[in-house]
Amino acid sequence: MSASILKQHLEIRGLELVSDQHKHRKVVASRLLKKGSVVITSRPLCNPVIFPTHRSLHCETCFKSKAQQTGNISSNDIELERCSVCKKRYYCSRDCFTVAWKGWHRWICTDKNKDRTDLDFEMLKMVVMSVERLRNGSYKESEDAYTLSPALAVADFGEMESEPLALTEYVFSTLMGHEVVTEPTLLAKYKEIATTVREELISSKFPFKGRQQQQPDDTKKESLLPSIMELVQYLCRFHCNNFSIHDPQLFTMAEGTLPIGALFNHSCRPNAIVMYEGKVQLIKALEDIEVGEEVCTSYVDNGVPREERRQLLREKYFFECLCPRCGDQQQQQQQQTAAVQEPKTGFRILDDLIEGEQDGPDGKGVNGEWLTKQFDAIIIPGARSLQIAGPRLQPPSVMTRASFTSYIIHSLVPLIQTGASQQEYTERLFEIYETLQSTPHSEPKPFTTTVMTNATSFFNTCLEHQSWALASKIGTFILALYLMIYPRHHPLVGLHCFTLAKSLWNDVEGGMTSVRLSHEMLKLARNILQVSHGVKSSGNAALVMEVMAFMKTVEKELDS
Ligand SMILES: [Zn+2]
Ligand SMILES: [Zn+2]
Ligand SMILES: [Zn+2]
Repeated sequence: MSASILKQHLEIRGLELVSDQHKHRKVVASRLLKKGSVVITSRPLCNPVIFPTHRSLHCETCFKSKAQQTGNISSNDIELERCSVCKKRYYCSRDCFTVAWKGWHRWICTDKNKDRTDLDFEMLKMVVMSVERLRNGSYKESEDAYTLSPALAVADFGEMESEPLALTEYVFSTLMGHEVVTEPTLLAKYKEIATTVREELISSKFPFKGRQQQQPDDTKKESLLPSIMELVQYLCRFHCNNFSIHDPQLFTMAEGTLPIGALFNHSCRPNAIVMYEGKVQLIKALEDIEVGEEVCTSYVDNGVPREERRQLLREKYFFECLCPRCGDQQQQQQQQTAAVQEPKTGFRILDDLIEGEQDGPDGKGVNGEWLTKQFDAIIIPGARSLQIAGPRLQPPSVMTRASFTSYIIHSLVPLIQTGASQQEYTERLFEIYETLQSTPHSEPKPFTTTVMTNATSFFNTCLEHQSWALASKIGTFILALYLMIYPRHHPLVGLHCFTLAKSLWNDVEGGMTSVRLSHEMLKLARNILQVSHGVKSSGNAALVMEVMAFMKTVEKELDS
């Protein structure tokens, strides 16, 4: 395996890996990548490690959860069976157990330290075993076919060659671990893990054959294993390249080493999103990506404030972000030296807008009564007004929670519903940023990340207590904030619209206005989730089907 095979693998998919002065390397589009398409799939180097708290909820082999298996997300009636030896890992079928047993489970089933919460131990052990089996020729592609092919099929690459594990391993070997700049205490911890894993592997039954295909005795086995330094290198690579694997609802449940996916750089305004079908990763285009444009995913939540985001990127991934939101080096220097500053434009405005720690009366923190008063003023928009992209709105003279919500929802939702181009949408968004910057606002500032956090937790409380009318108002406000901060087809936005639609539907006091808006929110959820979750038959698409089924129910009510 070599660079040329990787080049070809990317080329077929309309991608090219080019070197970059600042970022080391980057993936750019070599042809137009359509919005909602799977840019590339990425397979794990070894079976991903399910979080200990989630082991009884997912099949370790195919990752199906108890609920998903029946195609009904709310039902919970399928039992997973656990391995009768260790009683720690769960499987949905005999087939899945056999795949796991042959592939990896038999080597770790009788591990003494099964209850370790640090996932690095197991990840390291499994990666070492995967790499060894590849090198000594005992790994067969066909053994993974059962669990990978259905997911890889959704990629819609037709007859295209899927990713051989040897390519996965080659790309892993090229990933940066940044050992030199890693904290000494972290390196010491890695050394400890590496030493333990090495000892455990030596005493395990897992055969290290090396390239000579001979059965080594114990001393030889030791010499065939990677050195402690090599293992520390692996751990450093995990640290800045591994992914948290999530389900269709975006709940994380496992950690995986997915080297192809790790080739994509970060942006705080990404044009692609990481999704999963079982344990296979899909990189999906959130917008049309033009030839020559870099394909970026996001390593952090886009709703996190600037400083927190940048600190995380610096500490965990060792880089200074130069994305459209963070600005280029020159702009960042200007900011630090307070030299003559050019006024910010475009996405650069966003972080100034959402900055602010204060919430509650006189910044003294929030309580239910105060929050209720704040959100009660929000007026549920009429569904009709969201269906047609009209002329630009006159902004309110003062931005309050209510006027902000109305202004953003009426300005942006119609553009998504009518499928406006990315350019048109972004231009409108920039106008909104400038308006928010220049319009006086009520105190505390209604559109900060602090307000978003408080509103979200109050929204969940209201849903729990079935206070549908108030929940619907807060949910509409949160949608406005999301549209201001996240890319329009971000799955988080789509999932929120679905929750909001359910709340509106339940709000009987709202009458038909509420029902009509519920229908509009379902359309919005569908339009967004079709991009992020796809439409082909798959675990993710089941969510889109659920939205459509709910729409039918609401339509019946509207017709009657
Ligand atoms: Zn299974
Ligand atoms: Zn077991
Ligand atoms: Zn950034």
